[in-house]
Amino acid sequence: MKLLPINCNSYSCKYTTTSQTATGQNNKISKPVFKSLWSPKTPDLSERFQYGLQALDEQSVLVVTSNEASSNMMLETYADNIDIPVMKKYTLHVKKGELKDCDELNSNFAIYKKNNKYYILSLSEHPLKNLRVDMSKEAYNKDNLLSGGKIKELNNGVIIHTGEMIWETSGEKHKFVFTPPKISETHSAEKYLEVSNVKNLKEFNKRTINALNTPEPKTNYTKGITFEDIGGLDDVIETLKKYVVRPINYPEVYKNIRLNKGILLWGPPRCGKTLLGKALANEANAKYREYNANEFKSSTVGTSENNIRQVFKQAAADAPSITFIDEFDSIAKTRDGSSNARFDDPMVNQLLGCMSDLEKCAAPAFIIAATNMKKLIDPALLASGRFGLHIEVHMPDLEGLKQIFNIHTKKQHIMNDVSVKELSQTMLENKFNGSDVAEMVTDAFFNGLERLELNKKMDNKTLVFSDLEKIALSKSDFLKAIQRIVKQKI
Ligand code: ATP
Repeated sequence: MKLLPINCNSYSCKYTTTSQTATGQNNKISKPVFKSLWSPKTPDLSERFQYGLQALDEQSVLVVTSNEASSNMMLETYADNIDIPVMKKYTLHVKKGELKDCDELNSNFAIYKKNNKYYILSLSEHPLKNLRVDMSKEAYNKDNLLSGGKIKELNNGVIIHTGEMIWETSGEKHKFVFTPPKISETHSAEKYLEVSNVKNLKEFNKRTINALNTPEPKTNYTKGITFEDIGGLDDVIETLKKYVVRPINYPEVYKNIRLNKGILLWGPPRCGKTLLGKALANEANAKYREYNANEFKSSTVGTSENNIRQVFKQAAADAPSITFIDEFDSIAKTRDGSSNARFDDPMVNQLLGCMSDLEKCAAPAFIIAATNMKKLIDPALLASGRFGLHIEVHMPDLEGLKQIFNIHTKKQHIMNDVSVKELSQTMLENKFNGSDVAEMVTDAFFNGLERLELNKKMDNKTLVFSDLEKIALSKSDFLKAIQRIVKQKI
């Protein structure tokens, strides 16, 4: 019988999956909805706020945050304090500096609505020091400030009474205005569940918020990148096929074998590690998520470990999945070159614990850790059963540079005077990595436009369609590009 690659979605393990959460209740509910309110098209914070508040019905929360990962964790931590059944979550991203002169917005908070009143929940262990609601007539009351984990009603429950929310810094007011929300028909008409059916609200919210915190799949992010788009790393690709792609595509073959779920990709910068992670996900038809390990770090006690747990939990729930963690050394460091970091570094400890849980679970969830500094990583993490498979992603050799050149010029017209071998030799002598090759092609294109005087035509608005057909890159375009990159490298 011929075995065909399959995409398996149902693996059981100790983690709760999104689908279990969504269907685990005896209610008429569909999957929880997640929506991010950040879009470059809505740059103004007050506008986004208005939009967010309008979107709130009595089954949703609006999380205001500059760090989504940590606010998600905290929302789970404080889920017990929300006394509406949460079925939707909106995230309002606040960029640093967007709240002018308001350095104090280091805490995240969530807003929800009940009986037409708004409630603010601090998603931090610290009180929202500078957040207050302008109560116009009533005096500003310190007790009304929210502290972690507790919901207090501001101004007897009417939170956005005046339609203004004000942040204060050292007595000076910095405000951004949002008017009282109009209840949008579309949102209020959406009914997700019969509230009366929810017997245990705390339990219910724990489950739904957990599911809501599952970020949207970033499958588009991989933009259809496959192994064909990677040059000079045939050996690495073969290893990844052996340990990841085939085991995911043909689970029947590997069902009695323990898979290496932790993989370390190490090597010099800009040689294709991230590219490999994305291609791997597409080749294995697996869900892809990418993180920078620095995002996990938090100054709040316990949050960094919580973030790590969440990422592993997500990976298992997504299986088959590829979770790519860049700059892994930043959370997996050995201290002073000793192998004792795990004893005093809670993040290393957490990683060890999560890896051992992942090993035990049947889900094909692969964690790909990437680093430029393998030496810094705690040896305990590099042992077998953890990140036990180490793959070097090396600099390209002559053949590799030729391949990378061909990949990046696939859609360009190249003139006959270009010798790929000669160019690659020059690149090799100048220690070009994959990213340098990509940049050289882009630069050569700009040089070509200049040589053909198409820049002038664009400026004079005399460019015609047939001019585009003239664009072909010459040897001199490439050499000029190489020169610029080499000069910058010094
Ligand atoms: P870092 O260590 O700095 O995170 P990295 O090793 O993850 O870098 P990538 O982000 O994968 O490097 O590469 C950056 C860009 O360089 C890619 O998007 C691609 O355009 C190009 N590139 C790098 N290596 C290769 C390669 N081997 N084949 C084709 N293109 C490559």
